[in-house]
Amino acid sequence: MIDRRQPGLGAALSAAAVAVVATLAGAAAAAAQSDPAGRAPDRVLAFPAPVGEERLDVDRGAMGAWYRIRKLATTASLLHITAHPDDEHAGMLTLASRGWGARTALLSLNRGEAGANAIGPELFDALGLIRTRELVLSGRYYGLDDLYFTTAVDYGYSKSVDEAFRSWDREAVLEDMVRVIRLNRPLVVVSRFHGSARDGHGHHHAAGLLTPEAVAAAADPARFPRQISEEGLRPWRVLRTFRGGVRVDEPYDVEVIATGMSPWLGDTYQRWASRGLGLQRSQTAGRVRAGGGRYFYEHVDGTVTGGSRGTATRIADSFFAGLDTTLRGLPALLGEGPLPRRTRCSPNWTAWSAPWRRRSTSATRRAPSATWPAGWDGSGRRSRRCRTLRRRGFTSR
Ligand SMILES: [Zn+2]
Repeated sequence: MIDRRQPGLGAALSAAAVAVVATLAGAAAAAAQSDPAGRAPDRVLAFPAPVGEERLDVDRGAMGAWYRIRKLATTASLLHITAHPDDEHAGMLTLASRGWGARTALLSLNRGEAGANAIGPELFDALGLIRTRELVLSGRYYGLDDLYFTTAVDYGYSKSVDEAFRSWDREAVLEDMVRVIRLNRPLVVVSRFHGSARDGHGHHHAAGLLTPEAVAAAADPARFPRQISEEGLRPWRVLRTFRGGVRVDEPYDVEVIATGMSPWLGDTYQRWASRGLGLQRSQTAGRVRAGGGRYFYEHVDGTVTGGSRGTATRIADSFFAGLDTTLRGLPALLGEGPLPRRTRCSPNWTAWSAPWRRRSTSATRRAPSATWPAGWDGSGRRSRRCRTLRRRGFTSR
């Protein structure tokens, strides 16, 4: 299984390429021999992580270091779900990753292999490979940390969601989406699509419809239990789910404005994202789309309390508003309760620190690993206090 925690990104990219070929070349029969359901976990993943010389200039040197360090300072994480490559809200993703420092991932249900090719003769499986690679390149501009696909095949335009579900195995697509959520463990999921007929394409409608369903299933250990018993995944509770496709004058909960300047990119987040999107040349022929940069989202499960574009009452400019995404706030986010503010240091240092350490360790194990700096267990301040007591002879440890 390809794991985002694997250190060998080059190997991961190679493995991802194998996974792409396996999916697109119709190797389902071979996979089915090892997996009765025919859905091996490594068939849902690909990696956009930059490797060596392929890293963008802004991700090298001091700038790159600043960007990486910034990401360590927040536990904010976001998974954006679309149907095809180029559906994504590129400006939103770029602002989330490069502006807010959130761990940012994209799940595209398929690889868009049934579309037209604007730059060459390749179609179907070959086009799917091209579009996978194009999305990886775009993802570097967005600052994506992870890119995922499901095993759903793009068979062309679909007039309705019913037609899509006649061609796709609905349960298999849902299972792949749940697997990705349990693997990635985001705090927030953002559906590109509304999940209704307004999405205009059966695949788009299906993506919007399945997203909240997948979020609910990912938290339920009774759903797809083999992912837990055989693949080593754990249930994951997403804290907030949002959907796009909000119409003008409809209420919304979050407005994301990506038109601000980034001094680090030397451009606005939206223009930078458009440059990345333009690299999907089999769709754009290299054109860079101008304009855009304001995105509106509705909180799926919550009460819609937002303003409308007519009244311009913005409720929040971030999906994470009101969530404590500091490292110290992580236990509370995960339902562990806040860390104790003051702990009296007694001569028996081991005794008083054990409950705190247990909670800290438990939170660390449950947290997305990428959000924790190596060696951090949050106990530095108390350790220093105890070192002082040790020096003064109050404790033997
Ligand atoms: Zn699409």
